[in-house]
Amino acid sequence: MFWAEKIATDREGMQVVNDSKTPSGRVHVGSLRGVIIHDVIQRSLKHLGKPVKFLYGADDYDALDTVPKYLDQEKFAPYLGFPLCNVPSPGQDVGDYAKYFMEEFLEIFRYLGVEPETYYLRDFYRSGRMNHHIDLFLQNAHKVREAYLKVSGGKRADNWYPFQPICENCGKIATTEVTDYNGKEVFYTCKPNGANYVKGCGHSGSVSPFDGRGKLPWKVEWVAKWDLLGVTIEMAGKDHSQKGGSRDVANAICQSVLGKEAPFHSPYEFILVNGTKMSSSKGVGSTAKEIANLLPPELLRFLMLRTQPRTVINFSPNYETITRLFRDYDTLIEKAEKADNLEENINTNEDLAPLRYAQVNSDLNSWRSHQTFDLSTIISLLQLPHLDIEKEISDRAPKPLDDYDWQVIRSYIATGRQWLQNYADEEEKLVIYLDKMPERSKEIDSVQANYLSKLSDRLTKIEQWQADILQTESFAVSKELEIPQKEAFKAIYLSFLNKEKGPKAGSLFSFLDRNFVIERLHSASSLD
Ligand SMILES: [Zn+2]
Repeated sequence: MFWAEKIATDREGMQVVNDSKTPSGRVHVGSLRGVIIHDVIQRSLKHLGKPVKFLYGADDYDALDTVPKYLDQEKFAPYLGFPLCNVPSPGQDVGDYAKYFMEEFLEIFRYLGVEPETYYLRDFYRSGRMNHHIDLFLQNAHKVREAYLKVSGGKRADNWYPFQPICENCGKIATTEVTDYNGKEVFYTCKPNGANYVKGCGHSGSVSPFDGRGKLPWKVEWVAKWDLLGVTIEMAGKDHSQKGGSRDVANAICQSVLGKEAPFHSPYEFILVNGTKMSSSKGVGSTAKEIANLLPPELLRFLMLRTQPRTVINFSPNYETITRLFRDYDTLIEKAEKADNLEENINTNEDLAPLRYAQVNSDLNSWRSHQTFDLSTIISLLQLPHLDIEKEISDRAPKPLDDYDWQVIRSYIATGRQWLQNYADEEEKLVIYLDKMPERSKEIDSVQANYLSKLSDRLTKIEQWQADILQTESFAVSKELEIPQKEAFKAIYLSFLNKEKGPKAGSLFSFLDRNFVIERLHSASSLD
């Protein structure tokens, strides 16, 4: 059974699926994994007819702990340590820093068909909705200290309290420490060494902890949210899910202070880009927004779904990865097409679950498939300015393409264009030497030359100038001459592309004029 449907099957009664994010800056594509995982769990619950609510929160009372490199350092550095909702917006339209980056993220949700009820924690704090829990955790500070010590080995002083007021003097929330609570007010100090990235001002005083004057530490805050919102399912990334890690600490606090069981949890793995865990301040071209610009929404969802949550996703927007992603998706579409009852198949076939949940529209009753068309061919065609891409695609499609097929194919073309413009390495680009013989054709040896000559002759006799026929013929000739395929194809690429590798030889020929190919093969075979 598909993992999300397994989770959904095991749950009884009303379910509240929750996830959240600290809106500290631009979001990397890796953060979308959790978003899609929670979305798919709630879709699975709905699919099984179970009642479910889907929530997504902005943890915007968290402090600004670093100024991202793409922002004006001088403007934002004075706000280090401030709650994100109290930092000014980097943009013109949206009120503050947290809203600005959260809105940017939520735009991608809409693109992907993810539609949770969203909330901002500032509203919970300022409206007094958190007051009861703040009091409860302050009264039970000893139990919180105990849970930290027992689960993570983190020793807190006997007069440490789980609360951080916003300093009345300097506005920072990251540097304050509470050492007493009398049921109405906390006594705190804004400590010069209270955080490792910013200094506190040294102020101390008493203040009410209620109505937005400060926040719970995040592991405690997590528990308060679960209780307030009635959360029953919340997954977390591997970094929070280690033994003795933050999720374990939160679970223990939930148990000991509230006497309640924590929500269902299962960890999910990272997304690695070029083999490294993505960080939010590094990496070019891999923010969620940039990848959403590159991929159609179904393909971006599919990227997250074709891999089990507990397996690392290796993603880098190179030719190999992108074309394979599309090919895998198209394979599932073709599989769905083969069934007698398409609608039933997409709804129930286990193999098709990643395709089912990759759709932007969660209502699959009106789902329809489409004719697939290979992205790698599209990428090649786009690089041949002498061709009309839509005509070429139309000529190559096995069946006539209808409006919906074109809608999908045009989204693939847009991906191809984007990829060529922003991601392709020079090595990955297809440059065909139309006007002159490539320099490196000199490397062709006599055995290879013999192959090219023979192939040139054979192609004059081909009836239909089609990629698959041309490919078969190129293979057949290498076999007859007993020349290793690799050597044979290398000679072809050297003759047309000035390099040793390229797209399928049959495709390459099919992009080009018949006489030109025959002539070029012939000339390349007769070089000294
Ligand atoms: Zn201060």
